Amino acid sequence: MNQLLNKVILITGGASGIGLACAEAYIREGATVFIMDVNERALNHVLGLFGSNHKGIAGDVSKSADVKAALDEIRKHYGRLDAIHNNAAIAHPSKPVDETEEDEWDALMNINLKSLFWTTKHGIELLKASKGCILNTSSMAGDIGQSLHAAYTATKGGINALTKSMALDYAGFGIRVNAISPAGVWTPLLKQWAAEQPDPGSIEKYLSDIHALGYCPEGDVVADAAVFLLSDAARFVTGCIMPVSGGAELGYRR
Ligand code: NAD
Repeated sequence: MNQLLNKVILITGGASGIGLACAEAYIREGATVFIMDVNERALNHVLGLFGSNHKGIAGDVSKSADVKAALDEIRKHYGRLDAIHNNAAIAHPSKPVDETEEDEWDALMNINLKSLFWTTKHGIELLKASKGCILNTSSMAGDIGQSLHAAYTATKGGINALTKSMALDYAGFGIRVNAISPAGVWTPLLKQWAAEQPDPGSIEKYLSDIHALGYCPEGDVVADAAVFLLSDAARFVTGCIMPVSGGAELGYRR
């Protein structure tokens, strides 16, 4: 309890799935949450549940002006920022690179990866002042690959590289930079992928089987790890890509 007391946290993509589970956990642990999400309807619904101290803005993380507007609002309302959780992302329909359209490729790169450039550009001064944290939602797919999702995996591999390099660049300012790497998590994003599969009925079993621990979790497992990484309990942890994957990456098994 109160592991994040009085911290102000910006989370992107906080109106759904993993981001929503994290936002709820941050609030439970005493933080004030500011959500940036492109889905205005879902954002307003969530903010309505959270109470007036928690705020947000409808915007696209791939657009400099939108991210700047979010940071300007945070400065105006709270005057400080303790953490940025870069979580918003999209996935494209399953296909190999040669069948991926240029606009799909660019959208993935800009939303999933370049967005970290914008939140850092516009938010780093506030984090320097608070000796704050950056947390990135990566994916096991950035580490071990995923068939028919090469562009998505490239963005997550890029996030892993950025996490380590930014951890080095900002350590001198007392800023920690970490990432969480889930395998499967039941969220609208995963449900969309499951629905695209030729045999959606078998997907539930498949998604249980890829995790050594034997089930596909919901967002709360990521949220618990995120609370740890943003809390003072993780004060000596930086540059870490933490698997929250039920052992999905450990190896072949029967
Ligand atoms: P989700 O689709 O449920 O939620 C993503 C949220 O991001 C949505 O609210 C959406 O509106 C928002 N968003 C999308 N594009 C945006 C943009 N341009 N600007 C601002 N907000 C935007 O997805 P999720 O499954 O909760 O995924 C969250 C994160 O977890 C992503 O980074 C995803 O890559 C990662 N991840 C998910 C899984 C999984 O199995 N669900 C596994 C590994 C990693």
